[in-house]
Amino acid sequence: MTKDFDFVIAGGGVAGAVTAALLARQGRRVALVDHKRPNPLDPKSEFDPRVVAISPGARNVLMAAGVWPNVPADRIGPYARMVVHADGGRVEFSASQHGLEHLGWIVEIPALQAAAWAFLDNETDVALLAPAGVTAFETRRNRLQLDIDPGDPLRTKLLIAADGARSRLREQADIEADLWHYNQHALVSHITTQQANPGIAWQRFTEPGPLALLPLADGRSSIVWSQPAECAQALRDMDEADFLEELNDHQDAPFGPATACTRRYTLPLVRRQSRQLVSGRLALLGDAARTVHPLAGQGLNLGLMDAAALAEVLTDWQGEEDPASALARYERWRLSAGTLIAGGIHAINEITAGNPLGRRAAAIGFGAASALWPLRQLFVERACALDSDSPRLARSVP
Ligand SMILES: Cc1cc2nc3c(=O)[nH]c(=O)nc-3n(C[C@H](O)[C@H](O)[C@H](O)COP(=O)(O)OP(=O)(O)OC[C@H]3O[C@@H](n4cnc5c(N)ncnc54)[C@H](O)[C@@H]3O)c2cc1C
Repeated sequence: MTKDFDFVIAGGGVAGAVTAALLARQGRRVALVDHKRPNPLDPKSEFDPRVVAISPGARNVLMAAGVWPNVPADRIGPYARMVVHADGGRVEFSASQHGLEHLGWIVEIPALQAAAWAFLDNETDVALLAPAGVTAFETRRNRLQLDIDPGDPLRTKLLIAADGARSRLREQADIEADLWHYNQHALVSHITTQQANPGIAWQRFTEPGPLALLPLADGRSSIVWSQPAECAQALRDMDEADFLEELNDHQDAPFGPATACTRRYTLPLVRRQSRQLVSGRLALLGDAARTVHPLAGQGLNLGLMDAAALAEVLTDWQGEEDPASALARYERWRLSAGTLIAGGIHAINEITAGNPLGRRAAAIGFGAASALWPLRQLFVERACALDSDSPRLARSVP
C-alpha cells in the first residue's frame, strides 16, 4: 500500500533528522528514511572521533527541534574563548565581550544524531524507516512517487535530500555540483594535554595547514589538523611518541603540550557546491547541498541553517499549493549564504596553507581585525549564525 506524507526526508544524519523534527513540530506528516538506524548513545562509551563545533545559532535550532535537551551534558564541551594564531599575529574572541555566554560547544556527531532520533521516536506524526533507502522518484501530478528499498512505495508533496556529500538523489535529479579537491586530509584524534582544556577553541595556521584544538567535555582536546594528504597519512601512521613531538612543535596552547592521543584517523577534504538546491519538488540540504573545508567548523552549522530556513519558508505553505515560490526563496537564501561562507573559508585555506607570505598577510589581517570593534562584532555574529541573514529559529533563544 502506498502511504502519503507531506515530506519525505532521505538521510537521517543530523541535518536530515533535525529537519524532520522541525517539520513535525509544524504538525506535518513526515517520513525519515535512512540506510542505518543510529545506535542510542552508550553513556559509558569512549568519545567518538567525529566531533563538531556547534555555534550559538545552530544550538538554538537544535533547541527548537527538541534535540539539544537529549544530548547528555557530560558529552558537551562548551567554550567561551577562541584564540587564532598565524605567524605572530593573533586574535582572541571572548563570549562575554559580545554579550554571549558561550561561543560554541564541541559535541560528537553520533551523540547529536542519537538525540535527534530519540526525539523523533516519540513523535506520532513521524515514520522512521530504517534500514531503508530512497532508490528512485518520479513526479505524478502534484506529488512525488518514491521507491523505497526495502519497503512499499511512498507518496509525498516534497522530497528533501539530506543524503550526505555524495548524494545519490542529487545525481538522480541531474543537479551538478562543482568540486575542488584540496589534496589535503584532515587528521583527527583526541589528545590529553598537561592541563585540562578550560574551554578554549585554539587554532593555528601552521606551515602544512590549519591546526585546531577543541575542548571536549572531559578536559581533553579534539584536534583537526589539515595537511597535504601524504603528510597527514605519515602523521597518522607514526609512533604515538613521534606524533606527539611533531604536534607539540606546532602548538603552544595555554593548557600545555599533548601527553597522549587516541587512535588517529585521516579524512580527505573536498569542497562541493551544488549549482541548484531545488529541482521541482526536491530540495537539497546539509552536505548534499555543499561541503566546506573544516577549518572554520561550519559544515554542519550550515546544514542546520538550511533545515531552519526550509522550515521557515514552508511555515505558511498549505500542502495543496504549488511549493515553487517557497522553494525558490529557500534556494536563493541558502545558495548565497552558503557560497559566501564556503568561499571565505576556501580563500583563507588557499592563502595560508604552505604559504609563509599568506600566513604573514593573515597575521596582519588578524591584528587589524582585533583592533576594529565593529568588524569583530560582525564576524562573531556571522560565525555564530546570529546575524540578520540567519533563520529566525537561529536568532531567537527558545
Ligand atoms: C574533519 C572534519 C571536521 C568537521 N568539523 C565540523 C565542525 O566543527 N562544525 C561543523 O558544523 N561541521 C564540521 N564538519 C562537517 C560536518 O561533519 C558535516 O557537515 C555533517 O556531519 C554532515 O551532516 P549531514 O546530515 O548533512 O550528512 P551525513 O552525516 O553524511 O548524513 C547523511 C545520511 O544519509 C543517509 N543516506 C545516504 N543515502 C541515502 C538514501 N538514498 N536514502 C536514505 N538515506 C541515505 C546516510 O546513511 C547518512 O545517515 C567537519 C567535517 C570534517 C570532515
